[in-house]
Amino acid sequence: MLDSTVPIGILRCSACGALDAGPRLFCAHCHEAALVSEPASSMGRLVSWTVIRRPSAQFRALAPIGIAIVALDAGVTVTGRLASPDGAHRVDERVAAVRMDDGVGIFEVIDG
Ligand SMILES: [Zn+2]
Repeated sequence: MLDSTVPIGILRCSACGALDAGPRLFCAHCHEAALVSEPASSMGRLVSWTVIRRPSAQFRALAPIGIAIVALDAGVTVTGRLASPDGAHRVDERVAAVRMDDGVGIFEVIDG
């Protein structure tokens, strides 16, 4: 079980209330330029993932890189990375970000 998680920055439209993972200038729902950044809990469920074992030279030091799609409990689906890309992950398992790396959430499996 994790001791601590970190929040994820999401966007909320101040005109219609829609949530968005961003980055985006205009609301995808109402098209207003009214998106405001706010923190959200990073707890969610793993939707899908893949592992990049031979990334381009720019990202080679990070290999293997686990790219995760996470449906946050807050109602937004975000892209992040897996802290343990070679772990035995499964669809729908509970995850949360334990740290941020250059604006990207690094997700680990949590209980529950
Ligand atoms: Zn809107």
